[in-house]
Amino acid sequence: MERTLSIIKPDAVAKGVIGKILDRFESNGLKIAATKKLQLTRQDAEAFYAIHRERPFFNDLVDFMVSGPVVVSVLEGENAVAKNRDLMGATNPQEAAPGTIRADFAENIDANAVHGSDSLENAANEIKFFFSGRELS
Ligand code: ATP
Ligand code: MG
Repeated sequence: MERTLSIIKPDAVAKGVIGKILDRFESNGLKIAATKKLQLTRQDAEAFYAIHRERPFFNDLVDFMVSGPVVVSVLEGENAVAKNRDLMGATNPQEAAPGTIRADFAENIDANAVHGSDSLENAANEIKFFFSGRELS
């Protein structure tokens, strides 16, 4: 059993597809262990994506992540990290396989609907970043 962190990004929240995206998780064997909607501060977004600080797209990425509310969720299930990444599809929606969340709900590589942890270790850190113990018991 694994846990991973999902973010429904501002573009998908603005489009009104929170429920449709959460349904993809539940329909594919991932339980929603915790979930909440919130507005990231610039400091939150910079810390969360600190690994990309030196990349040319970093400022655009931070601007986008604070452009509106997001929904953060902890997904739980067998192989949750890899399963969520499979359900999300490729980072660039133009390259995402048909039927994936990014193929169906994302416009472009900047506004790509969802984030998912890319390793078990990052998942644990990202979950701690957003959720307290009492929200996850
Ligand atoms: P995420 O971390 O959001 O789940 P990912 O793991 O598929 O996405 P990363 O390489 O971690 O992709 O990049 C983080 C985010 O930065 C991407 O979701 C995308 O919005 C943006 N990004 C990544 N590569 C590029 C790029 N070449 N040009 C513009 N934006 C990019
Ligand atoms: Mg990533």
